[in-house]
Formats: sequence, C-alpha cells, structure tokens
Amino acid sequence: MNALRLCWFCWVLLLSGGTYAAAPYVLDVRTDRAELDAHVAYLEDPSLTLTLDQVRAPDRSWADNGSDVFNKSYSDSAWWVHVRLANPLSQEQSRLIEVSYAVLDYLDVYVLDQDKVLHQYALGDKLPYGERLFDHRFFVIPIDWQPGQTLDVYMRVRTSSSVQVPLMLWQSDKYFGFDTTRSTLQGVFFGAMLVIAVYNLLIFFFLGERAYILYVGYVLCMPAFLASLGGHTFRYFWPTLTNWNDQSIIVFLAGVVIFAATFTRRFLNLSAQQRGLDIALILTAVAAGVLAITAFLLPYRYNIRTLIPVAAVNCILCFIAGVFCWYRHQETAKYYTIAFACMLSGGFILALNKYDLIPANIFTEYAAHIGSLLEVVLLSFALAERINAERRLRFETQAQALKTTQRMNEELEGRVQERTRELEALTRSLQKLSNTDALTGLHNRRYLDNQLSEEWERCRRYKHNLSLILLDIDHFKQVNDVHGHQAGDECLYEVAQRIQQGLRWPADKVARFGGEEFCIVLPETPLEGAVTVAERVRQLVESLPIGTTSGALPITISAGVCALVPDASNSIVQLLKHADQALYKAKETGRNRVESHASSLTH
Ligand code: GH3
Ligand code: MG
Ligand code: MG
Repeated sequence: MNALRLCWFCWVLLLSGGTYAAAPYVLDVRTDRAELDAHVAYLEDPSLTLTLDQVRAPDRSWADNGSDVFNKSYSDSAWWVHVRLANPLSQEQSRLIEVSYAVLDYLDVYVLDQDKVLHQYALGDKLPYGERLFDHRFFVIPIDWQPGQTLDVYMRVRTSSSVQVPLMLWQSDKYFGFDTTRSTLQGVFFGAMLVIAVYNLLIFFFLGERAYILYVGYVLCMPAFLASLGGHTFRYFWPTLTNWNDQSIIVFLAGVVIFAATFTRRFLNLSAQQRGLDIALILTAVAAGVLAITAFLLPYRYNIRTLIPVAAVNCILCFIAGVFCWYRHQETAKYYTIAFACMLSGGFILALNKYDLIPANIFTEYAAHIGSLLEVVLLSFALAERINAERRLRFETQAQALKTTQRMNEELEGRVQERTRELEALTRSLQKLSNTDALTGLHNRRYLDNQLSEEWERCRRYKHNLSLILLDIDHFKQVNDVHGHQAGDECLYEVAQRIQQGLRWPADKVARFGGEEFCIVLPETPLEGAVTVAERVRQLVESLPIGTTSGALPITISAGVCALVPDASNSIVQLLKHADQALYKAKETGRNRVESHASSLTH
C-alpha cells in the first residue's frame, strides 16, 4: 500500500510541472481529519491584481508554507494559497475543508481539475452571512473526487485582519460530530459567563458596590470579544452587518481592557497601593476607549494593530498589580492573582499549541476559554471574599465604636453620679448651714419653726402632747458688760452643749431661739416630763461654772414650760406665748428656776 502511495505521489509531482512548491496531500480513508498546513504553497500579490490564470502561470514561483498554520500576520497584500489534494483510491471521495479563522474579509476559493475550474466560491465575512455555502461560523468548503482524481484548491485571501488560513481536511460525518461537541462546549462557556454576569449584576443591585458592575462589564466583554473573533456573533446577531462585525471586535476588546483596568484598580485599591501602576492602567483604559471610538473612523487593521499591544500591556499590568498587592499582604489580591494566572496560562497553553509544542486537542484548543472561565469564577469568589472582608472590618469598627461609646457613656454616667453626689452633699451642707446657728452649732430659729409646725400637725392628728421649753440665761447682759463679748460667746456655746446633754430622746429638738434664749420642742411629752427636762438642763448649767478666756463664770438659766394637746382651739403662737409667760414668771420669781404655764395640761 505504501509503495502504491509513493508511486502516486511521484506521479502527482510530475503533473505539477515544477511550479508547485509543497507536497500534495494524498487522501487516506483511515484519516478522519488532516491538517493541510504542510501541503500549502503560497504566493503574495502586493498589487492585488493577479488573476487565477496569472498565479497559475508556470513562471510564478510559489513558496512552501512549512508545517505551521499559514499565518502572514497583518498585510495589505492579497495572498494566494494552493493545496493539491489527490485521491489515489478507486472510489469517489468526499471531504470538507474547514478554514478555521472566522474573520477573513474575502476568501475566494477555486477548485480545479488540471486546468478546468470545477467550482468557484466567494466567501469571507465582508459578504453577508446568508451567502455562505454552509451555515457555519468558519468557512467550510466541500470537495468531491472521482476515483484517481487530483484536485487543486486555490484560495485568494484579502483581509484587514491578520492573514491566517488554518486548513483542516475532514471526513464529513466525523466533522459534524466534532463540530457538535465543540459547539456544545462553547455554548457551555458562553452560558456560564452569562450566568456569572447576571448573578454578579444582581449582587451589584443588592449591594450597590461599584466593583461588581465593573466586573460584570469585564465578564460580558470577554466572551463577547471571543464570540466576535470566533464568528459566533456574525452568525447569530448581525449576519448582514459586515462593517460592524469588524468594529465589534475592537469595541469588545477595548471593553475588556477598560473593565479589566477599572475593576483591577478598584478591587486592589491600587491608587492607594501603587500610584505608578494605577496611572499606567488608567492610560491603557483611556487608549482602549479612544480606539473603541476610532474603530468607527479608521480601517480595522490600524485599530486592531494598536489595540492588541494595549491589551497585552493591560494584561501584564493587571497581573503585576495583583502580584504586587499580594506581596504587600493584601489578602484578597491572592485570589485575584491566581484568577489572572489562570487566564494567562490558558492563553499560554493556546500559544504552546499554536507553536506545535504541545498536541492539539479540544482542551488545548480551548485553553483560553477554560482559563478565562476559571478566571471569572475565581474573581467572583475573590470579589465575594473582599466584600466579606470589608463587611467584617465594618462590623468590627462598628462594634469597636459601640464599645467606645458605651465606655464613654459609662464614664459620663459615673461622672454625673459623682457630680450629683457632690451637689447633694453641697445641698445638704448648705441646708445644714441654713438651719444651723453658727455660734453654738445648734439648730436655728428657722429650723425650729419648721419642726414645730410639723410636730404641731402630727400631734394634732394623733391628739398627743406637745411641750415647749423656753430658756434664757440670767443676767447675761452683765456677763457681756463685765467680761466682754468674747466671754459671752463662750458662755453661749457652753450653755448650748449642756442643754443638749440634758436631752435624752432623739425626737427632742433644741434650737437657739435668738440672743441668749434657747427653745426645746418635746413631742409626745406631757408637762411633768417637760418640767423634768427643763430642771435637768437648769441643773446642768448651774452645776459647774463655765470656763472662759476671762475665767470660770457661774451661769444660771431660767426656763418657762408649756404643754398642750394641739387642736383647733389653740395655736403655735399661743404655745410660744404661754412658754414665754412662764419664763417671765421664772425671771420674776428669782431666776435660776423652772416655771410652767397655768393652762398647761398635766396629763
Ligand atoms: P435677764 O434675762 O436675767 O432678765 O437679764 P439679761 O441681762 O439676760 O437681760 P436681757 O435678756 O435683756 O439681755 C440680753 C443680753 O444678752 C443682751 C446682750 O448683751 C446679750 N446677748 C444677746 N445675744 C448675744 C450674743 O450673741 N453674744 C453675746 N456675747 N451676748 C449676747
Ligand atoms: Mg433675754
Ligand atoms: Mg437674759
């Protein structure tokens, strides 16, 4: 079989007449899919004028593409791609060629048998989507062989996107199986991104935290960009808007940059952490914003060629910012950095795959998708964690503030209580002062008047005895005159002490009544009791001469007693008057004695 294939191969080479640079691809029934890159020959047409016949002229020298995907980056030339496909088999064969790069502007395809053009297709996303051969976001071309037939496929590519023509030859049934799996996985990807976006949008509405809306912007722009680049949006959303189809790629990628920058700044609080990085991120966002506007004014290739480096710088800056803040012990920056690393490693795996360093499979092919999906999920967690951390901090601060307020309140309350106690003590001492006689320390007349009215009322209600004694020092004027006021005051003080000694019951009240007169109120006391008290006091004063600075002075007092049961027929004034009359009688009858008023009750 191999020998047969080799012969066939040589024959096909001969056919090609030497203008063909790459080896033809020979069909094999066992191969489901085959990359055609290594079989591609190409030709650049900077003049944009060459026709199919001209490029097929024997003097045209075609270059061999090598084994990588045909990729000429951004170019203003038209590019011709040629691949020769030989059917060595004795049966008819059908295959599909997939050009898996959705954003090629114009792709003219010619299928030839020798010099005869069998089919001619005009493809590319500058033509309305409806004109496609297959309803597919990529460009799919059917190829049919007769037994032993060799076909030449020429493609003319002219595009403002990068010139990439990845060619894959598929068995039809395998292709549709593969394509279904691929579409399902992409559906899962876009669906998951949408769910995350909606979920975070709701959280934004609940919390009003701006980081969430920026994050939602990022989560929406990222898949929108990938969907535009992958031809999904052209297929589903704007199949006739061929200009906007290019512009949308710029707008969405600019959105990714703007939201990545603004979200990162806010999430990491970058303006407070690292001013330089912050400004650099703002600049990338501004540049992206300008390019999103010029997308509508300047050709696509200028915009995309400027925007890609801006996006790359933005991506690197975001990552550096994450690492920096993590290094500065910002807890949530850890999640952020890991999330970004996921996205970057997705891109890295894709790049390794494109450079053929790791094998192509559905995982490596969509590593960028998986990476960015992981990224947004992790960022979601990071965002929640950050909001939680902020809340915790707020709660702690509130609790701290509450504690401080409580402590201050307690302190204040303590101080108020202390002040109140001081004020009460002051009031008490003022009250005492206002009720006290300064010279003798006894109560004064005002106090006695109050007490007397209270006792009067009480004894009147219960019909109890109330006695009153008025005391007056005998010949006191003489004491003053002979020994001086100082000695007089000392005598007054000592007489007051002795009167107090003469009282036994706590209910008995004594006051200095004025001058050298004293008054004793004795509640619940009949006349005999009052006379006994008066006599006891009189004896106490008389018993010992009073020591003064002018020597010991013999002092005596006279007392008038009155006792009654208060009722409507008598009064305080009367009680005082009667006591005073008794006192007067004591003075009259020789002094140093006790007299009671005649109307006093003796029961
Ligand atoms: P008697 O009562 O025995 O009739 O004679 P008396 O000398 O005590 O008479 P009187 O009651 O008229 O005199 C009161 C005197 O008491 C007048 C004044 O010199 C003296 N006196 C009144 N208040 C004070 C005082 O606060 N201090 C001093 N040192 N003497 C006072
Ligand atoms: Mg007197
Ligand atoms: Mg007197």
